[in-house]
Amino acid sequence: MLFIANFLDFISPRFCTSCNQKLTINEKFICEICFSKISELTEQEIISEYERKFSKSNLVDNYTSLFKFEEKSNIQDLIHALKYNQKFKIGIFLGEILGQKKKKVLNSWQIDLIIPIPLFHLKKIERGYNQAEYIGKGLMKSLGLKLDNSIAKRVKNTQSQTKLNSNERAENMNEAFSIKNKKRIEGKNILIVDDVITTGITVLELAKKLKEYGAAKVYCLSIATPLISHTIGSSNAQN
Ligand SMILES: [Zn+2]
Repeated sequence: MLFIANFLDFISPRFCTSCNQKLTINEKFICEICFSKISELTEQEIISEYERKFSKSNLVDNYTSLFKFEEKSNIQDLIHALKYNQKFKIGIFLGEILGQKKKKVLNSWQIDLIIPIPLFHLKKIERGYNQAEYIGKGLMKSLGLKLDNSIAKRVKNTQSQTKLNSNERAENMNEAFSIKNKKRIEGKNILIVDDVITTGITVLELAKKLKEYGAAKVYCLSIATPLISHTIGSSNAQN
């Protein structure tokens, strides 16, 4: 096997998604140096993000996330390659890391089923795959959890959330999902998986549907979460 890996590396070298250096046999997608520079969220940051995004609604029972999503960072490069460069296997790679790092909390949630945030079908055709499904597959591999990508469907082609205010965002996502096969989620603890959770509105909308259809608990997990600096937005000085 090592011989084959060596040979494949020789004929088709692989490069780091951040620094573009050739990867060694043991490295996948990102070199060790670039990977070591990605910052993880602290326990306190995760708790405050949960409170800010989810706690009021009573729809998401708990949430966790691994990395701090920062602009022009190595984690942004990795997730960008996962979503836009056809490197869907990065999803499995990151899902396995999530599984290892979050094993304790995920076990305590007693998850019955992973549901990756679905993409609208035209978007899936355009991209060729749903990146969240691959993250879920990595989790399946490392934790032995079940995944079902046929239960939730995205029935609304929502526009990008970035230019909308919070009311418009909620309206944009309203009724964005439909649920098939209610029996599969009734009384079950569900884990929603996504790559990056920014506003949390998409997750809330799916969680609302899952609870409507009888899910017992709904949890949420993402690779990364951006932290919004409290000085931005709340600042009324400067200009
Ligand atoms: Zn690198």
